[in-house]
Amino acid sequence: MKKLLIITSTHGDERIGMEVINKLRKQEIEKYFDWLIANPRAYKKNQRFVDFDLNRAYPGDGNSVFYEKRRATEVMKIAQKYDFVIDLHEASAGINDFIVAPREKIGKKFPLNLVNMQKILLWPSPKGPLGSVLENTIELEFGMKNRKRTKVVEKATRIIERFINQITNERNKPRRGLRKNQKLFYVYGKLMKEKSLPILKDFKLIKIGKEQFFPLLVGQYQQLGIRCYKMRRVI
Ligand SMILES: [Zn+2]
Repeated sequence: MKKLLIITSTHGDERIGMEVINKLRKQEIEKYFDWLIANPRAYKKNQRFVDFDLNRAYPGDGNSVFYEKRRATEVMKIAQKYDFVIDLHEASAGINDFIVAPREKIGKKFPLNLVNMQKILLWPSPKGPLGSVLENTIELEFGMKNRKRTKVVEKATRIIERFINQITNERNKPRRGLRKNQKLFYVYGKLMKEKSLPILKDFKLIKIGKEQFFPLLVGQYQQLGIRCYKMRRVI
């Protein structure tokens, strides 16, 4: 049994997952992981989802009229057999890369210190990502704005390679806790679009009225009326 499952295209229009898999499959390392396309119907149509956002659908419902709710039960059954699950995402308006642990606390099942990324986000609400029901699962989000796609894909591939090296090397027993250079944030809310907002930048602390926060994914969800998500620093 392989230890790692890599999940791609939970959002069908986010192609980075398969681009990373295609790079990894050309290597020896292929024998150390399994992978699956979480939302094959949306992937085929190159759209975010078909009936319902899969990233809000877990644990799912095998009898639902919504394709993604049925699919969620299938993906979860597979994912829970693995020690570690990495779900790959991209953000077109994002300028940073980060780990998302979609829960209140870090959890004990995924060794975040073995992932070579500095920013870790606890993001417990809304519910429904796979990682909110399985503690072995994290998401990696890669920002694509103003960046060369090939470079971002290469970076993501290197992060996965390194993680596989770490978990397959017996001397490197997964440890708990975070590395010294890792920063932990907590996503606690969102800022809706208003007229007189100052210029916001991801991860750049800002004070609006009495509230101080770090903006996240500024402009990514404009069509939903969201200016950005709001975070506070934990560690
Ligand atoms: Zn996504």
